[in-house]
Amino acid sequence: MATVAEPRRAARPEIRQTQLFIDGQWTPARSGKTFETINPATEEVIAQVAEGDAADVEAAVLAARKAFDDGPWPRMDARERGRIMMRLADLIEAEIDELAALEALDNGKPVSDARLGDIPLAISVLRYYAGWADKIQGQTIPINGNFFCYTRKEPVGVAGQIIPWNFPILMVSWKWGPALAAGCTIVMKPAEQTPLTCLRLARLAQEAGVPDGVINVVPGFGPTAGAAIVKHPGIDKVAFTGSGETAQVIMRQAADQLKRLTFELGGKSPNIVFADADLDAAAAGAHVGIYLNQGQCCCAGSRLFVEDKIHGEFVERVVADSKARRVGDPFDPATQQGPQVDRAQYDKIMGYIEAGQKEGATLATGGGRVGEKGFFIEPTVFTNVADEMAIAREEIFGPVLSVLKFSDMDELIRRANATNFGLAAAVWTRDVAKAHQTAKRLRAGTVWVNCYDVFDAAAPFGGFKQSGFGRELGEKGLDPYLEHKTVTVSLD
Ligand code: ADP
Repeated sequence: MATVAEPRRAARPEIRQTQLFIDGQWTPARSGKTFETINPATEEVIAQVAEGDAADVEAAVLAARKAFDDGPWPRMDARERGRIMMRLADLIEAEIDELAALEALDNGKPVSDARLGDIPLAISVLRYYAGWADKIQGQTIPINGNFFCYTRKEPVGVAGQIIPWNFPILMVSWKWGPALAAGCTIVMKPAEQTPLTCLRLARLAQEAGVPDGVINVVPGFGPTAGAAIVKHPGIDKVAFTGSGETAQVIMRQAADQLKRLTFELGGKSPNIVFADADLDAAAAGAHVGIYLNQGQCCCAGSRLFVEDKIHGEFVERVVADSKARRVGDPFDPATQQGPQVDRAQYDKIMGYIEAGQKEGATLATGGGRVGEKGFFIEPTVFTNVADEMAIAREEIFGPVLSVLKFSDMDELIRRANATNFGLAAAVWTRDVAKAHQTAKRLRAGTVWVNCYDVFDAAAPFGGFKQSGFGRELGEKGLDPYLEHKTVTVSLD
């Protein structure tokens, strides 16, 4: 049984920003409405947050439009833009403890995960893109005839950015980093479950010197505030991270204006362990791959393919590690797993656990709730999973692992690729040729070999198939925020 860690609570963070941030001002929603954000570890209300809707989005777009069309941000010395972004990264670093606590309070993730994982990477992403600000350059092209032809890369304009609740601070950095470096202005909607850290970051951006109107934050719900961003003609591009179903709605709504879109969506990533792997490392990788962030990762290694020769032995390790995982108070530094983000996610995951049992998979460990308050779920492992079961096909977004057995390489690749998703995959083997062959044959945007969840600001991330399109991070991540202009000059 997973145990609930004894609470040794760190100080509760102060909640300072709960209003909309538009044109450098904190304002209530025009409707006067607010919504509750809760602490998923206790189910208690943390704060009332201003609930933006279409009228507020209108004001935010006007501000972002003005900042883009007439303001200093796209026009300033690009190196100065980079310097302001660096300052934002520094301010985040200076407040890392408080931000980690706020993230843990709003999202439920262990404070140590936010402190050592999410926020350092967010800082790194902002610094990385700050470095790009003065390195966005075109080409000269030797075309036929007496012409001078060159290209320019220009900011796409006002970016609408809609983010999910699983990595709130990190998602802000993935979205703001490339947009700011390119010279775009922003209307962001954080997820309704986790608005607090995004608002705090808006305050820090202002303190860093980001001019008014460049970053606007409108907390609220998807069908109102989110849809208003997607439909607004003043928004040039929408970057969305979330579910495939919502992406389909957004794509339809954006079609009228042929709005530029990038999507980072779900996954059902295969994590493949060959018999010749370092099994200690692979077991640790299987554990992190599924359980990181309470399993609420789009790239979670939720289908663990284990070669038949080692299946029994390997499953034993995975189950033992799952039982030893420390589930409990996110504010205890020893906690490895906090609660799921909200009741809806908790219910959805429990539904999948029930479906797995009904469909005949073996519940090797877990499957239950931890404690009586908060949305805690035991680390859960299913064995004897068949490919067609819901738990092997659909994204659960929780701490639920499906173990599948394989024996033949071609069969493995076919099964691993037999999914509409294609976000990530991992391979564990000591055979270098096998590792590269497998990496080549897997239809996924990221393949990890003998590691899992290794992210870097410089390495592009994104999906094949229905896991999305466009890439974030790296040089590729800048592209969606740039228009490429070709200028041809007659030399006659
Ligand atoms: P999840 O199931 O992980 O909550 P969603 O795709 O529902 O994923 O949510 C991701 C983000 O998209 C959130 O900020 C949410 O408010 C927003 N969203 C939901 N529905 C819409 C919509 N129709 N238009 C725009 N944004 C939306």
